[in-house]
Formats: sequence, C-alpha cells, structure tokens
Amino acid sequence: MTRLLLSDDERRQANAGLAKFMDEFEALLASAKHVVPPENRPALEHLLQEPFPRSGLGVGQFFTDVREQVVPNSTLISHPRFLAYVVGTANGIAPYADAVATVLNQNAGFSELGGAASVIEQAIINWVTGIFDYGPSAGGILTSGGSTATLNAISLALTQSRPDFRHTGLQSGSRPLVLYVSDEAHKSVAKAAATLGIGLDNVRVVPTDNAFRMRTEDLGMMIGKDRESGKEPFCVVANAGTVTSGAIDPIDDIARICRSEDIWLHVDGAYGAFFILSGQRSALGACRQADSITLDPHKLLFSGLEAGCLIVKEKSRLAETFAFHSSYLPENSDPLLLDHMDHGIQLSRRFNALRIWAALRTFGVEAFEDATRKCLELAEDLGHRLAVLPAIELLAPVELSAVCFRTRQGGAEDQRRLLHALNEETGTLFGPALLGHKSGLRACVANFRTTTDDINLIVDFIHRWSSR
Ligand SMILES: *Cc1c(COP(=O)(O)O)cnc(C)c1O
Repeated sequence: MTRLLLSDDERRQANAGLAKFMDEFEALLASAKHVVPPENRPALEHLLQEPFPRSGLGVGQFFTDVREQVVPNSTLISHPRFLAYVVGTANGIAPYADAVATVLNQNAGFSELGGAASVIEQAIINWVTGIFDYGPSAGGILTSGGSTATLNAISLALTQSRPDFRHTGLQSGSRPLVLYVSDEAHKSVAKAAATLGIGLDNVRVVPTDNAFRMRTEDLGMMIGKDRESGKEPFCVVANAGTVTSGAIDPIDDIARICRSEDIWLHVDGAYGAFFILSGQRSALGACRQADSITLDPHKLLFSGLEAGCLIVKEKSRLAETFAFHSSYLPENSDPLLLDHMDHGIQLSRRFNALRIWAALRTFGVEAFEDATRKCLELAEDLGHRLAVLPAIELLAPVELSAVCFRTRQGGAEDQRRLLHALNEETGTLFGPALLGHKSGLRACVANFRTTTDDINLIVDFIHRWSSR
C-alpha cells in the first residue's frame, strides 16, 4: 500500500482545510496592516533548516504550517494596496482551476498526454491573436512568463536571419547580429540576448524622447551605421508599455523601418499589451504590425502565476525553430492536436491554459475589459491628484496604469523613506522608479481589488508626508 495517497477521511480533512484557508485568506486581505510582512528572520531560518521528518506529520499539520509559518511570512500580492512592479492579482477561479490541473496532471507538451489541454491552449491563443487582429496565419504558445516568451521570440528572429542557426549556432564566423532596444526596455531582452549568445555588446540601446518612447530617427541611423560597419541588424524589440512608465513606442514607424530593412520586429507587451482589452488605448492596435508579441496573462489578464504568452504572425516559425524529432516520442501531424513541445523550449508543461480558460468562461470577456479599464482609470485618477500636490512631481505621463513620481524636495534617500512609510503606515506597496536620472516611486495598478478608497487613502498620506 502506498503512503502517497490520502484516505477518504484525510481527503475530507484536506478539502475542509483548503476551504478554511481560502476563507481566512480573504479575511486577512481585508484586515492586514502590511502588504510586506515585517521580516521575521528566525521564522525564515527555521523554514530553511528544519529537517524533514522520517514519518509524515499528516494533513492537518500541513494546513497548520501554512497558517502559522507560510502565510505570516508571505507578501500579500492580492492586497488591494499591492501596487508595486507589475504582478497581477489572481482571479477568483484561478486556485480551483490550478487544483483541477494538478489532479488531472496533463502534460501539455504533447497531445497524447492531454487532448483537451492541447486544444484549450490553442483556443486561448486564437482568442489572444483575435484581439490583435493578427491574421489567419497567427499562432503562439503559453510560456512560464514574459521573459521566456521574449527569449523564444528572439530565437525565432535568429532562425529567420540564419536559417542554419540550429546547426551552426553563432559560431560560424559570419557577421555579428545586432539587436535594438530602447533605453527603457525591460532587462529580460538583454538577458535573452546574453543567453542566446548574441552578446550584450551587440545590443544597441536606442535613446527615448521626453515621453520615454523610442526615437525612431535614432533607430534608423543606428541600423544604417551598423550595416556600414559590416554588422547584421536582425531584430528590434519595441515596447507596448515600458516597464517603468508604460510608454508605448511608435510601433507603426518602427514597423516601417523593420519592413524596409528586413528586420524582425518583436513587441514586448508583457506589461501593456492586454490593455487593448480596455478599448481605450488605440495605440496598442499597432502591435499587429509586429512579427511577434510577448504578453503576460499573469499580469493584466489576472491569471495567477505563472502564465506568459508569445504570439507570432506566422505560426510556422515556431516549429521551424523548436520542433525536433525524437524516436522516444510520438509522431503527430494532426492539425487539431498540436504538440506544444514543438512550439517552444519546454517538453513537460503544466496545464496552465486551464486557469486562463476557466477565468474567461467563468467571468466572461467583459469582466476583463472592465478590469483593465478600471486599472487605467484608477491610475489616471492617482496621477491627476498627485500632479496637483505642490510637493510632488510626476516623472512621466501616465500612459497606462503606472504612475511615477517623486517628492520635489530631497534626494533618492527621501524617496526610499516615503516608499517605506507607505508600507509601514498605510499598508501600501509601491516600487522604486528611475526616469531621466530622477529617482522616485512607482505605483502600478494591475490589481482589480484596488478601489477609489485605496487611492484616497494613499493620496492623503502622500499629501501629509510631503508637506510636513
Ligand atoms: C514583467 C515584464 C517582463 C518580464 O515578464 P516576466 O513574466 O516577469 O518574465 C518583460 N517586459 C515587461 C515590459 C514587463 O513588464
């Protein structure tokens, strides 16, 4: 008899334990004083060092441990005043969908190990490509996050420029490939370039204008200069929402340059692209000009971690780059049952699509349109109200849901003090920002639990603090 299963009684106990945890957690979110808990090093050291028991402690102990040791040392990312970085709140059905996915334990790598998983993922990709009007040949894949989606996209761009790249790698002595990003690009792009062997020395950083958008004249000039010196420009990564201020690069203009220069255009929309659902940012429509787009369902689609997404204008590119024949895996050419292992880096893959599918069906598309619109509105409100405070300076236009600001008086240390005080005294987490050499704070509304009351509380506190 295996001891790795629960008896009927234990299963009932676990079900009850989970239900209780979920209820207690909602109550905690409503009453918690801190988003980031006060650091309890002894508790964390205990978690690190306590040896695992030879015989099991049972189901009850697990839920006790979660309540006593895990939750008190966890950041409340679902708290209505968690407004740091870009980490979406998980929607309400996500934990249940995750549990079902774990019970089914489909391997979404190939369709024999999960027919529904293969098709549900395709349905989500079709919905996403449909939002961008991306055309009949579009396809894509869910990834672990935006960083992985961009890594995959740059692999596609490499394969397009160097069709023999798979065999020769980057060691074949040909001209150096050059990638272009703006100075506001997310570090995941540089990381991908470094990981793929392109080398950071071959990543050109294009300056931005006073609204933090890529300067396209500079891009054109840099491409020309690189060609003259014998380099091979192969990919531009444009931003649909820079990670700090939410700036949207002039994607139409960049696309024109890429077309005439025969360069792959990738759009990093990990933060901003899903704001297209709000119907309020028509500039995002230009994303459809790109060869590929990174999106992050775990941000503005509120799927819960982890879920990134890559969509590609020509889906055949995915298999060209990622399909490998293996004698120990089944052959499949059925267009209905895609093998997603042939479209990305992973073989074994979690059935993450279920979580996104569950939310789209449970709440409906309209709920996501409303939630993204609400994030934009709250950020706009926060931006307006901070901008009129005499002691506060906005560091950038509020393009999406990020609000970057600083206190006019004081240096970087004062900005950090305000960041700390917001957490300590109002239970609000913002992140740091650096824009145009100015240090400040960054609020990002990627949270459907945030309300106008939260914004009021935050503005009142900042007003009091900054006019002391
Ligand atoms: C979050 C983010 C990323 C990285 O995405 P992960 O899902 O965290 O890997 C990349 N680019 C931008 C603009 C982002 O906001």
